[in-house]
Amino acid sequence: MKPSVLLIYTGGTIGMVQDPKSGELKPFDFSHLSEQVPELKKFDVSISVIAFEEPLDSSDMEPEIWVKMAKAIEENYDKYDGFVILHGSDTMSFTASALSFMLENLAKPVVLTGSQLPIGTIRTDGKENLITAIEIASAKKNGLALVPEVCIYFEYKLYRGNRTHKFNAEQFQAFQSPNYPELAEAGVHLKYNQGAIGKLAKGKLKVHTNLNTNIAVLKMFPGIGAEAVKAALSIKGLRALILETFGAGNAPSKKWLLDLLQGAIKKGIVVYNVTQCNAGSVEQGKYKTSAGLKKIGVTGGADITYEAAVAKLMFLLGQGLPEKKLKTELQSSLRGEISE
Ligand code: ASP
Repeated sequence: MKPSVLLIYTGGTIGMVQDPKSGELKPFDFSHLSEQVPELKKFDVSISVIAFEEPLDSSDMEPEIWVKMAKAIEENYDKYDGFVILHGSDTMSFTASALSFMLENLAKPVVLTGSQLPIGTIRTDGKENLITAIEIASAKKNGLALVPEVCIYFEYKLYRGNRTHKFNAEQFQAFQSPNYPELAEAGVHLKYNQGAIGKLAKGKLKVHTNLNTNIAVLKMFPGIGAEAVKAALSIKGLRALILETFGAGNAPSKKWLLDLLQGAIKKGIVVYNVTQCNAGSVEQGKYKTSAGLKKIGVTGGADITYEAAVAKLMFLLGQGLPEKKLKTELQSSLRGEISE
């Protein structure tokens, strides 16, 4: 029996065309994509397609659409060996992170891919990305999925989705996974890094669709003033604030800052310390400039990416957990998103 893959087309450059009048890149309908990749018909994989009614530039991505994707996977879970999601690269890391949390006990591949150049252009990177993503989504060993994870395939590399970050808006290699090794590399052969790929989940797939978006982000900079911090903390309904800190989780050691943050924590707002650095980890207490944060109850984010931090907060707040449990979960690896 041929392996089967469900292709979920959400939009992105891969399916865009240039407006002949304005020159802008605009999402086009899916028939364009299938016309452009006749190779898909030659594949020894049976491919079905779902296209979202309105193809999106992923900068317009919303958590409700993550829910739509998760439900599409849930409804089709038993019918397919794997899933490929075509998605714009701009927010692909957020979507991959969110899906990793929403799809508990995932035992099949969910591979997100897209491209930097539309699939119809001569130098497109979209064809290779799409074809190899399908190959990975259908890959099995002894009847079991080789990569039972939410991942991103882009420019010859397969990454754990919730470890990625879009770092380049120009080059074909648009993604990085600075704190976790690649899951596979495509050359003449597809080489899987078995040691890095997550273990096959034993339980039944459980899809979580409650996401709470009452979060905000405050990025530290030298010279940040109390008014900016107060403004962020007074957002109505705020449940959690990502504090984007310097280096290993450091912030200005000003008393007014610690007082404002402590006041918020006392009111039940979770303050989550995530580093601005591309690689490495938050270690609260390593420096004096983070010891104060630790003391007032700021939750350390370890080596989580900003993208995964956003998704993890929305997911955990959506679970309605008691505060203590929420903080413990934030500091635990739920889907391999942090190193323990
Ligand atoms: N703006 C596009 C998007 O994220 C870029 C891309 O697809 O790579 O949808």
